[in-house]
Amino acid sequence: MQASKRLLAALALTVLGSTAQAADEVVVYSSRIDELIKPVFDAYTAKTGVKVKFITDKEAPLMQRIKAEGQNATADLLLTVDAGNLWQAEQMGILQPFTSPVIDENIPAQYRSSSHAWTGLSLRARTIAYSTDRVKPEELTTYEALADKQWEGRLCLRTAKKVYNQSLTATLIETHGAEASEKILKGWVNNLSTDVFSDDIAVLEAINAGQCDVGIVNTYYYGRLHKQNPDLAVRLFWPNQTDRGVHVNLSGIGLTRYAPHPEAAKALVEWMTGADAQAIFSGTNQEFPANPKVAPSEEVASWGTFKADTIPVEIAGRRQAEAIRMMDRVGWN
Ligand code: FE
Repeated sequence: MQASKRLLAALALTVLGSTAQAADEVVVYSSRIDELIKPVFDAYTAKTGVKVKFITDKEAPLMQRIKAEGQNATADLLLTVDAGNLWQAEQMGILQPFTSPVIDENIPAQYRSSSHAWTGLSLRARTIAYSTDRVKPEELTTYEALADKQWEGRLCLRTAKKVYNQSLTATLIETHGAEASEKILKGWVNNLSTDVFSDDIAVLEAINAGQCDVGIVNTYYYGRLHKQNPDLAVRLFWPNQTDRGVHVNLSGIGLTRYAPHPEAAKALVEWMTGADAQAIFSGTNQEFPANPKVAPSEEVASWGTFKADTIPVEIAGRRQAEAIRMMDRVGWN
């Protein structure tokens, strides 16, 4: 009796000890900048007492660093954008799958990895932007139609080197097959008014300045520019509303293979998919919450509602190599 009591007491101490230690901190490697993530982590620390340490860098060096650290990992979580990047991380073997009923409940399956290696946190549509001076919204229909003669010399695109366009192309291939997709891409390249741009903001500014009439951009860039310049003569259009819907991608997070604080990291991810974190996380960058029960910010809501493509976003990864080769073939630089 005495012995078993002592054993129980010892066990209880061990459990308490390890829980307290595990819950102390979580380390995040993030390709998202401080301004976007700090408010979320601060809110978590205020609520739970758990410290969230993070470093920010571009996704490629962060992934390389996790790979190089191997079993001596310092990072628990990798936070980045685009399913194409998250899929790459998965392929590099630097993530470990984990399942959580909380995450399954909060985030629709199309915005998670089918192998449970990562989950989406916020959504961004990659949609059509048009000049309110030179285009009537009735003239617009689909991404595919931007390949038509009507748009010759009127289209602006960002570089094919950006993962966002690779993911858009990957979903085109998934939907239409290779041959039809290549025709569409050729049409886009033929319709370019000028060289490709290095970022989406430059595409929007070119439309505003009259250098082109239509372009394809991520919604939050429009939100950023519109906030700076409320008179922007550019609007967003939701294409493909009578067929597959608007192309959507995400920012997301995965647990590293050798995470030193896996339980604390899982708890943070679960919290990040919940209402409080979703509102802060999506709101700071004018994105859509990945949790459909959470309302978007006022600015985001003002862009109107749309039907999104229901394709699982991990297709962006699966067909990424194929997409890059096709973009290269058609001369999309
Ligand atoms: Fe971006």
